[in-house]
Amino acid sequence: MNEIRGAAIWNVYAHDRLLDLLPDWEPKRQALFDQQKNRKAGLAGEKRVLEVLRSIDLPQGSVVFWDVSLPLLPGEWIQFDILILSCIGLLILEVKQIAGRLRFVSNPAALQKIENNLVTLTMGCPAAQFEDQRAGLETWLRMRSFHAPVHGSVVFTTNPIIEDIPRGLPIISLRELRMYIRDYLHGNPAFTIVELKRLIHAFESSRTRFLPYPLCSNYNIDNSKVPLGPRCNCGQQLVKDTEKVWVCNRCNLRSKVSYRKVLLDWFLLRSKTITVSQCAALFGIHRQSAWRILNQLPLEKHGNGRQTFYEIDYEDFDGLALLLNG
Ligand SMILES: [Zn+2]
Repeated sequence: MNEIRGAAIWNVYAHDRLLDLLPDWEPKRQALFDQQKNRKAGLAGEKRVLEVLRSIDLPQGSVVFWDVSLPLLPGEWIQFDILILSCIGLLILEVKQIAGRLRFVSNPAALQKIENNLVTLTMGCPAAQFEDQRAGLETWLRMRSFHAPVHGSVVFTTNPIIEDIPRGLPIISLRELRMYIRDYLHGNPAFTIVELKRLIHAFESSRTRFLPYPLCSNYNIDNSKVPLGPRCNCGQQLVKDTEKVWVCNRCNLRSKVSYRKVLLDWFLLRSKTITVSQCAALFGIHRQSAWRILNQLPLEKHGNGRQTFYEIDYEDFDGLALLLNG
């Protein structure tokens, strides 16, 4: 199983939760909704590429980075959809999820979408974008005295019809990806396992973390507009009956509550930390029960007695998954 590291899935999940809980009348809602639509479209294409990567045996020690950024100059960074670090070298995959009829034009380089012989959309040329990424990554490597080839390609995931691709442009379709990577993996190794580990370590310590959590403060949304706590599928706040069973006063349904999932909402939307009292109030339970729940979770504990609070690590993806599925 190839190792895939990335924060994109959590970003999408957190924004879905925010949109689920944010009232319809909140003025920021439409913009957030539109951004989420684009985010999900991009993610869909990247997931298709990752599926192909999962089915290929990458060399030992390889790591696939998904949606990562590297700082280049102060205030400037390069973003990669998918970047594979392996013994062979570095491979960039720039994913494009655009369907329909497309045309490459030059001076300036651009990609146009054609509908009924009319240009309906003009975007930056993905091949030029890829070359910028490659040049940026080569600079980053040079600055850290790594010597390794950087390869890669733009991958179109929706099988668009492309009117004559200019020769030599690094562009492939999803269908060609498996063969492309197999060929690439036949190349001569650029690193030993030890050097690869050093590169992955340098990459991990250098890459920029864009962590937008908690989302409410990130978007300057008042916490009171985003009510947290156990909810029925109908949207009504649930009331505790017994430790395990909760009741909806609107539709009289009795259901179980996942404390962990509600706490995940708390961390992604409201705060990086939680106290025992806050947890008790969130569920309407005793402090002793709240304390027991929090102590079982992959959270860092700070302080003593009444001052105790718990902190989440937004980059502990296994920990986040435990909250979601626990
Ligand atoms: Zn209900």
